[in-house]
Amino acid sequence: MTSNKALFLDRDGVINHRIIGGYVRTPEEFVLHSDIIPLLQAARKAGYLLILISNQQGVGKGLMSPQDLEFVHEYMQNLLAAKLNGRGLDDIRVCTDLDESHSPRRKPAPGMLLEAISEHHLDPSQCWFLGDATTDAQAGRAAGVKTALIGKFLPTEADVVIPDHAGTKVLIDLL
Ligand SMILES: [Mg+2]
Repeated sequence: MTSNKALFLDRDGVINHRIIGGYVRTPEEFVLHSDIIPLLQAARKAGYLLILISNQQGVGKGLMSPQDLEFVHEYMQNLLAAKLNGRGLDDIRVCTDLDESHSPRRKPAPGMLLEAISEHHLDPSQCWFLGDATTDAQAGRAAGVKTALIGKFLPTEADVVIPDHAGTKVLIDLL
């Protein structure tokens, strides 16, 4: 299937529950936000690729290994595949660089988004990035994609601000 648009998704606080002040290091610690599923289903049906864009500096800090992260993502993909006709997310992009590294990939920098846009031949103006931090919206805007944030944000911080996960259904009408 060819597609020129994607729904980019932050992971922690969007697909799964955030661990405040910590990292999801094992599949047991990965708790899905099931209210996000209708949006993922609708986006796929509308021809959007589903692409994860996630900072994971727990790896860079040595608190977990790259293999730990792979196990978590394998678990996430199995969970999502069960809800999405057998296919999980279409692409997973992570940045394990540390905050102080000024990495061109680590959000708020747009590097991961730009890579995905190039590799998947996406039209940024047709894409959305859904996150739960101002750094997600900053990365999205720098990459030229539409932005949506879940949580308490100013209306100016993203194109769409959604109070909670149940509210992500409003995005379905905008796809
Ligand atoms: Mg997040």
